[in-house]
Amino acid sequence: MLNIKSIPAFRDNYIWLIQNRDQHCVIVDPGEAGVVIDYLESNHLTLDAILITHHHADHTGGISELVRHFPHINVVGPASEAIPGITHSVAGGDQIEIFGHTFRILDLKGHTLGHIGYLGESLVFCGDTLFSAGCGRLFEGTAEEMWHSLQKLSALPDDTKVYCAHEYTASNLAFALAVEPENPELQAYRDEVNRLRAHHQPTVPTTIGLEKKVNPFLRPDQAEIIKSVSDRTSDLDPLSVFTVLREWKNEF
Ligand SMILES: [Zn+2]
Repeated sequence: MLNIKSIPAFRDNYIWLIQNRDQHCVIVDPGEAGVVIDYLESNHLTLDAILITHHHADHTGGISELVRHFPHINVVGPASEAIPGITHSVAGGDQIEIFGHTFRILDLKGHTLGHIGYLGESLVFCGDTLFSAGCGRLFEGTAEEMWHSLQKLSALPDDTKVYCAHEYTASNLAFALAVEPENPELQAYRDEVNRLRAHHQPTVPTTIGLEKKVNPFLRPDQAEIIKSVSDRTSDLDPLSVFTVLREWKNEF
């Protein structure tokens, strides 16, 4: 049984912490070290490994200080991105063991070209690929690459818990409702997210099942979304609709 906790970092990042029963843990995407070290010390935890999804500084900035603090830990990260401190390079299809549980590496290129995710135990750590009600920006990859990555995630079982790396849900929902205003599931989710955020509660993890109902980037085949983009494109296949949605969100 793995216990997952979040350590807030910067303005809206989550550093995820995977804990086993014996006070050992693994952390995902430590953009900064100080908050992690404080958390580990106050909870009497030993750090065994770091998992990295992609090279951006807000996901990797804490590696060197954490390795200084915990010299023998494994640092797992994407083979095709140059990230200082990585000790184990992995790529899509590889498997790693976390406290006796097998996690599979997913190739999730799009946000960056080497972006990976970690899937196991009905959990996925997907970095800046899928957010609740949104998806990552296309800094390096193409819309087509991101669309394929999102389809991989969308094909996971509905009860898969999605641990994304940012608390972007409220602003994502404003865009989602502009695109699909009559979606009752989306309206209900907006109310729930507003309630959580009013109490400073996180809105993640989310689930694949929920995202398939509310996330416009997983729903480019829906009639209301197609109607919303139809004055921006005449190509209405899912990839074209997704591409228009991603560009529209950039300027929203
Ligand atoms: Zn990023």
